[in-house]
Amino acid sequence: MAETTAPTVPADHLMGVYARAPLAFERGEGVRLYTTEGEAYLDCMAGIAVTALGHSHPKLVAAVKDQAEKLWHTSNIFRIPNQEKLAALLTAHTFADVCFFTNSGTEAIECAIKTARKYHWAKGHPERIDIIGFDGSFHGRTIAAIFAANNPSYVEGFGPPLPGFVGATFGDLEALKKLVGPTTAAILLEPVQGEGGARSWTEAQLKAIRQLCDETGTLLIYDEIQCGLGRTGKLFAYEWADGAAEPDIMAVAKALGGGFPVGACLATIEAASGMTPGSHGSTYGGNPLAMAVGLASVEELVKPQLLAHVREVAGYLNQQLSGLRDRYPDVVLDIRGKGLLIGVKLATPNREFMQHARDAHLLIAGGGDNCVRLLPPLTLTLDEAREAIERFEQACQAAQAKAKAPAQVGAA
Ligand SMILES: *Cc1c(COP(=O)(O)O)cnc(C)c1O
Repeated sequence: MAETTAPTVPADHLMGVYARAPLAFERGEGVRLYTTEGEAYLDCMAGIAVTALGHSHPKLVAAVKDQAEKLWHTSNIFRIPNQEKLAALLTAHTFADVCFFTNSGTEAIECAIKTARKYHWAKGHPERIDIIGFDGSFHGRTIAAIFAANNPSYVEGFGPPLPGFVGATFGDLEALKKLVGPTTAAILLEPVQGEGGARSWTEAQLKAIRQLCDETGTLLIYDEIQCGLGRTGKLFAYEWADGAAEPDIMAVAKALGGGFPVGACLATIEAASGMTPGSHGSTYGGNPLAMAVGLASVEELVKPQLLAHVREVAGYLNQQLSGLRDRYPDVVLDIRGKGLLIGVKLATPNREFMQHARDAHLLIAGGGDNCVRLLPPLTLTLDEAREAIERFEQACQAAQAKAKAPAQVGAA
């Protein structure tokens, strides 16, 4: 506002919304990424839980190539056979009866919110518009999604709070009960928070929230964009509650396309009862190219062996990271999360730690509450997991050395 000097155009001509690491990759294979200089990195962030099957998975590469030579795009005014196949596969493996396909996670959230409001409207309750969300959440970057998550740093400057979004405290069920009222449409949560720092709701809490929703006619929306599709060692994180905490609506994306932009909003036929012809749509969502790769991806992700593998590797990583916490108490404070959505809460700045990890040729993600996240491909082998721990330990050593070094005299 008090800005007087004219802003300079950045050399890359990109809108300055990212603080990028000075690395560019040109090739990937499995859990390895290779820079334009040919240096290899162990990828334990998988493009933020996207490349769940690793880079250049042969089935996904073949699916894209085959489809690219046949047909890329038609329109949702026609039937799209692979869209129907992928919907059949997703609904067969979940609580859901129907799907709407999108190009991103935040669009899947947008569809979930619209579906919930339209449901109550169609039932004769147009006043039920409020979506209750929780602190530490992340639901993407549309205007609705930022106000649903209500993270102060993401909403700042984007205008007045949207009506119809209510903020609740993570984990506080008594407060939540008081917030649910005659204008509540839905409760929206991530069973395991991703960006918030791998915080997990307990199974008992999810069951209690499901019960609260049943008692009050409130719809339950899960955002499993990050924690879903095998990441926690079950196909969906809500399955850990043994069928007692199923949602009415769920947003999925990230691993769904394994790197090709695909998202989906899943719902029961009851919850989707307001979504009639003309009420929603997308030009690209669910197009033939996206569906070919989505189908190939989900066919792999539903395999029980893969889910068992995730649980095994996650167990190993957790045990080893706990060892590092004991050996580097000045660096590592806590290990959290579920399956291969692992959060490590640090005593030293997480951005610096990510640089130490890059120096050790290990790629990890940041996270809220001064965490770093390990989100490796679900196909990470035990040998690769061992290597990840060795590299992570190098980062711990660097962080510890830096924390113990006397403050540099005369440093800028
Ligand atoms: C990544 C993410 C989103 C947003 O997905 P986009 O594809 O970036 O729009 C929403 N919710 C959660 C939990 C996520 O991890």
